Amino acid sequence: MATLIDGKKIAQDVRDNVRRDVADFVDRTGIRPALATVLVGGDPASAVYVASKRKACVVAGMVDRHHHLEAHATQTEVEDLLDALAVDTEVSGILLQLPLPGHLDREPLIDRIPSVKDVDGLGTLSAGLLAQGKHGLRPCTPLGVMELLARLPITLEGASVVVVGRSALVGRPLAQMLVQANATVTVAHSRTRDLGAITRGAQVLVAAAGVPGLIGAEHVSEGTTVVDVGIHRTPDGLVGDVSFDEVEPKASFITPVPGGVGPMTIAMLLRNTLNAAELQWGG
Ligand code: NAD
Repeated sequence: MATLIDGKKIAQDVRDNVRRDVADFVDRTGIRPALATVLVGGDPASAVYVASKRKACVVAGMVDRHHHLEAHATQTEVEDLLDALAVDTEVSGILLQLPLPGHLDREPLIDRIPSVKDVDGLGTLSAGLLAQGKHGLRPCTPLGVMELLARLPITLEGASVVVVGRSALVGRPLAQMLVQANATVTVAHSRTRDLGAITRGAQVLVAAAGVPGLIGAEHVSEGTTVVDVGIHRTPDGLVGDVSFDEVEPKASFITPVPGGVGPMTIAMLLRNTLNAAELQWGG
């Protein structure tokens, strides 16, 4: 029987800490950190995500600045808004909600966000800073995974960690963060041959492939720590990339879905927004 990693509780703890640190920052600087969210179009899932980010921001004591552009907004209109937010001294962090409507070219838009305001950590400069191990803002979901792992009674240093998935959003930045934590990291992906042979060697296994139930009992050795980043809506509710019922009896620690990695993402966004304000303050 594995111990469940309670992402909801840990996320709440991070959020409480951020709220306290925001109050300290305001006392110290007179500046209240502000998150500018940019939503283009009316995708219902994106609208829900943005609404919960905005609410969490207010609860943490930060300013919520929201901008909603119509679905037919042009590349130039989005650029102009991002450029205005980039130079707005009252805005600490800018979050461009993804996915964008298909006619927009997302990479150049993300790269207009200055790295000190890039609270999603997805810009080219932020990715470069991470790759070089330099100070900068990191993508929220992998940060959340690192926070969960940091709270377990396990040692990442020297441990063999397998990350399944190499996306710019999760797998790739996570692998880099793990290397910086001195783990021995293997990245598996859709072209990996014999996934099970690789994952069975893991002491810590992170599944971020976006394939429901990909990781079964045959992929996991006894005593492995299993972190499931996957989220899939099914008629039976939310499921992850890990086949929980099969894997849980073999794991030592495991994240549930929901209630594992999911709640961490917003918590780390709040932390990043405060970090962004600190970076701009230069204190
Ligand atoms: P993605 O589709 O961009 O990348 C998936 C990666 O997995 C790719 O690198 C691909 O090579 C690899 N992959 C695909 N099939 C594979 C297979 N059969 N075997 C091995 N590797 C395989 O997805 P993403 O954006 O990285 O998201 C991954 C999952 O995490 C999704 O389910 C997504 O919904 C979820 N997610 C959750 C959060 C959160 O807050 N918890 C945040 C972001 C993403």
